[in-house]
Amino acid sequence: MMKGLRCDLHVHSCLSPCAELDMYPRKLVERCLAVGLDAVAICDHNASENVAYVRRCAEGTPLTVLAGMEIASREEVHLLALFDKVEEILPLQEWISRHLPGRNDERRFGCQAIVNERDEVEGFCDRLLIGATELPLQAIVEKIHGLGGLAVASHIDRESFSILSQLGFVVPGPPFDALEISAETGIRGGRLRYPELESFSFITSSDAHHLREIGRAWTAVRVETVSVKELSMAFRKQAGRTIEE
Ligand SMILES: [Zn+2]
Ligand SMILES: [Zn+2]
Repeated sequence: MMKGLRCDLHVHSCLSPCAELDMYPRKLVERCLAVGLDAVAICDHNASENVAYVRRCAEGTPLTVLAGMEIASREEVHLLALFDKVEEILPLQEWISRHLPGRNDERRFGCQAIVNERDEVEGFCDRLLIGATELPLQAIVEKIHGLGGLAVASHIDRESFSILSQLGFVVPGPPFDALEISAETGIRGGRLRYPELESFSFITSSDAHHLREIGRAWTAVRVETVSVKELSMAFRKQAGRTIEE
């Protein structure tokens, strides 16, 4: 049976150096449920170590947690990779980590905490997550698709770290499954601003770095359940699945 579900496919956790430390798994799940989300994708910068713990916190609740990552390409374009399960994102994580130079300077960029479902710090990631990978955008999109995930261009309306700000075009370009419009602009604002991108599915997300930002935007999707397969069908308007605009 088809349902209208609220998905926020771009939320950071305390693993992102620029996110607040209160974004640890249990609090994240509590906040997602409190604002009425049905699904969330945890997308930390070039990292995914907290996804498994967020999923554990959501066990037994109505919240679906997708395994995600916000990757920075060599061109400094941000894009989201979305998978159903932690195991599916591991090969991508391994590849991204291998091509992400530098070590984090906690005092300059912030702390990168891996926190478990019992609010305990498991450790600190020492990779320079705020940096960009050495990988071209096209190769990252192909890798995500090869592993069975979805690739979404992040906040295309932003003046930095977006495909439009960095490259100035979406088409012709990598075959994104959808384009994300930031919470400030929203899907309707995006449609007005980018009539040339009519053929793409748009989503909007909170891109929350603070707990209070969760709930400021979400994408309403008509699907049977929130999964990569169902979202892919919604992006392509197949079998009654759609993104509600
Ligand atoms: Zn971003
Ligand atoms: Zn982000």
